[in-house]
Amino acid sequence: MHPPILLFLLLSFTFHTYAAPVGQGNKDGDMDIVKKYLDDFYSSDPVIIGQFKTKGSDPMTEKLKAMQRFFKLKVTGEADTETLEVMMKARCGVPDLGQFVLTDGNPKWKHTNITYSIVNYTPDMHHAEVDKAIQKAFEVWSNVSPLTFKKLETGTADIIISFERRVHGDNSPFDGPDGILAHAFQPGPYIGGDAHFDEDELWTSQGGRGRNLFLVAAHELGHSLGLSHSTDSGALMYPTYSYTEPSAFKLPQDDINGIQAIYGKPDVAVQPTGPTTPEACDPRTTFDAVTSLRGEIMFFKGRHFWRKHPQLPDVELYFISLFWPSLPATGIDAAYENFEEDLVFLFKGNKYWVLNGYEILSGYPRSIDRLGFPRTVKKIDAAFSDPESGKTYFFVGSKYWRYDEITHSMERGYPKSIARNFEGVGPQIDAALYHDGSIYFFQGTKLIQFDHDSKSVAQKTQKSNSLLNC
Ligand code: ZN
Ligand code: CA
Ligand code: ZN
Repeated sequence: MHPPILLFLLLSFTFHTYAAPVGQGNKDGDMDIVKKYLDDFYSSDPVIIGQFKTKGSDPMTEKLKAMQRFFKLKVTGEADTETLEVMMKARCGVPDLGQFVLTDGNPKWKHTNITYSIVNYTPDMHHAEVDKAIQKAFEVWSNVSPLTFKKLETGTADIIISFERRVHGDNSPFDGPDGILAHAFQPGPYIGGDAHFDEDELWTSQGGRGRNLFLVAAHELGHSLGLSHSTDSGALMYPTYSYTEPSAFKLPQDDINGIQAIYGKPDVAVQPTGPTTPEACDPRTTFDAVTSLRGEIMFFKGRHFWRKHPQLPDVELYFISLFWPSLPATGIDAAYENFEEDLVFLFKGNKYWVLNGYEILSGYPRSIDRLGFPRTVKKIDAAFSDPESGKTYFFVGSKYWRYDEITHSMERGYPKSIARNFEGVGPQIDAALYHDGSIYFFQGTKLIQFDHDSKSVAQKTQKSNSLLNC
């Protein structure tokens, strides 16, 4: 799916409330989606099947609840907006629970020198690009395990890779463009370990339009090695597709733990580690940047951001790259909303980007020199804008600058000392937010609420994540 279309789905499905019990009242199209999704991905789990028998409840509702548990949605048993939104996403064809197609138990390869072959090529990419993407995908796993992978040009390999469309002889037909992107079989003889890619997708070695073959292959090969889907939304083995810049890809810790649980650790002096998915309500949670955006609040952390809508009880976690593939995929330094002009400014290093709603304006990134910072400023720690005065405050180390949004210029006489003018607020601020007439400073695990009028700390005891409904 083209990123802007995906974005449209996310935005248009998220905030109009719409829920009806499964099987009644929904639009027919939605019910078709729900039924097909649950048949495809939630039919084979023995626990669920057991529940049908014991509880005597509607199997479709039980499957829907299992799906909602898997994706950590609210378990309503109803095809609500959030649930439909997840079901619309492009994903892997392997079911989320239970055993896939042919294999029983938890099979693994008995040898560590695994072979693979590529039996046909997609016309979407050069052969060399396909070879490279597949080789890189294998390296994701060989880097963190004792496994090695060798490409065979002749003879029968353990893992056979092919591009297929629609019905292709394994009882798991592909579905045309979007929807299911690929599937793979757990380790074993014959079809075991094989990975199939849907030729009706547009395969690429980049982001943007189409599907990145490296990212999808790395996921599928996880199945080929014996991993199932993870419920960790940051994991490679999460069932839905999300784009990460391949050169910046790092195998998440959840997947490292998974593969090492099967095959053990690699024989290297320094053990590899990977990024972990942040938990909003972990008391140790800190933030890179926080800003409002048209009434929502966005909390940036590493590769992710949480999105909090005032009318919704739950916060949502997304990859930065899912919304803005052209932004740096990780580590936004600072962010603020210019309420007057309905723009959001995002900072990383000495560059900044400007959003109108969720669209990045063209002509960005630009250098922060253009805002009037001296060249000695290499990055901004935090920023907020005060809509009453039209002044924006930028925090760098122990000092701050003030920018006039009306004249579009940095004010004279800056930088000034944070300690002197924001008494009680330490240097090295992680993030700042103007919200409901107060200023919030995020420092480590602390949240300081500052009263602008009295120029004093209003509350200092809050946890940094207390604005996340924790
Ligand atoms: Zn999968
Ligand atoms: Ca497809
Ligand atoms: Zn297949």
